[in-house]
Amino acid sequence: MSSTQDIIARLKQRALKDKESTETKDEVKVSAKDLPKSKDGLTIYPSFNKMNLNKDLLRGIYSIGYEKPSLVQSKAIVPIISGKDIIIQQQSGTGKTATFTIAMLQVLYGLKNKNKNGLQALVVSPTRELAIQINGVIENLGNYLKVKNFCLTGLTNNVNGDKVSIEKKIKLDLKKLADADIVSGTPGKIVDCLKRSQIDFENLKMIILDEADELLDENLGFKKQIYEIFNKINSKTQVVILSATMSSNILEISKKIMNWDNHIKILTKKKEISLDVIKQYKIDLKESWKVNTLQDILNTVSYQQVVIFVNNVKKCTSLYAFLNKQKFSVVSIHSKLSQLERLEQMNKFRNGTYKILVTTDIWARGIDVQQINLVINYDLPINIENYIHRIGRSGRFGRLGKAINFVTDEDQKQLAKIEKYYKIDIPDMPSDL
Ligand code: ADP
Ligand code: MG
Repeated sequence: MSSTQDIIARLKQRALKDKESTETKDEVKVSAKDLPKSKDGLTIYPSFNKMNLNKDLLRGIYSIGYEKPSLVQSKAIVPIISGKDIIIQQQSGTGKTATFTIAMLQVLYGLKNKNKNGLQALVVSPTRELAIQINGVIENLGNYLKVKNFCLTGLTNNVNGDKVSIEKKIKLDLKKLADADIVSGTPGKIVDCLKRSQIDFENLKMIILDEADELLDENLGFKKQIYEIFNKINSKTQVVILSATMSSNILEISKKIMNWDNHIKILTKKKEISLDVIKQYKIDLKESWKVNTLQDILNTVSYQQVVIFVNNVKKCTSLYAFLNKQKFSVVSIHSKLSQLERLEQMNKFRNGTYKILVTTDIWARGIDVQQINLVINYDLPINIENYIHRIGRSGRFGRLGKAINFVTDEDQKQLAKIEKYYKIDIPDMPSDL
């Protein structure tokens, strides 16, 4: 594996080549002078039309019903297209996926005479579900461009059949992977394919890290893989880093993997992370009361779809079994399910057939199901950052959401920490919710 020093050496190389990235910049002729500027000095593009995007890309955007850009889209799409490394922290549900996807599609397909050989953009995210979701957004937005994308979450992703058909499917997948301009995948799988020389980064124009603070977290398993990936990336590749939360530690690591001397930063101050669209409540209780309280809530509080978070797989399995026995419309997703089971459960929930999902922190980040308007923290999250990610599964794109926290005596300290960290005061749940 590479050392940090290797990466720093590479970065120095990149700084030298910075001139070349300026060339890409000039290709985008945006007349920004009449447009308003944000406090951080970035031009705000009030419509997608004003971003000088490819016509077929615009068609894709409008065809999925996006009428105007969200704030992060209005500020960040054009700078990403300019080719500079960029770090974006914006709260959940504000459209970060489309931000990088629109910019990426413009860079890859928006201009004529581009050399289109080999993998050109790589999107890395922490879970399969998220990689699949991002791949879907790429496909939807790129519907009118000839996008060649591939989702890398395990080559035998949807396979269910005899040996011959599995082998056929793998062969087909490998061909698609070899042909792909864009790959959306999880770190482990990407490293795996790198080692088998099934992908290479020779022509990679940009790498995007979604949920970057999770990918770069010291305590989780991804960081080593991310370094392995960066070690193979050449100095010209543009780095785009996104998350709803960024700790100072993550910013330090970002400095190492980005061209820090010439980068753009779009950060949200912690106190500006608005939790307004998600109404949060707490219920003080004992561990042994949780099950009955949950039943009461599910029977009385109205919701379209609800996510219930617990802190471990064992609890996830038993709570699911209980709710299922009680005839609730429930599915469950956790890390001990097979890929196929995970996919099936996810589809059942995403298409609305099932209304309740019991899950763990693997579902805390990034997943976008617009019908979710209630999140229940059956267990309070151990990781404070994940509090905002979990409740952010509701309240997507300005919709209203509710979050209910179960708080035992032992949790009081953790709750106080959360309240202090987010500068909020979580009231007791009213009886008429
Ligand atoms: P984030 O990554 O910031 O948490 P997502 O990229 O998952 O947010 O987007 C949240 C939701 O907002 C998605 O359902 C997406 O389709 C929707 N969305 C994104 N941009 C727009 C837009 N410009 N207009 C309408 N809906 C949008
Ligand atoms: Mg996201």
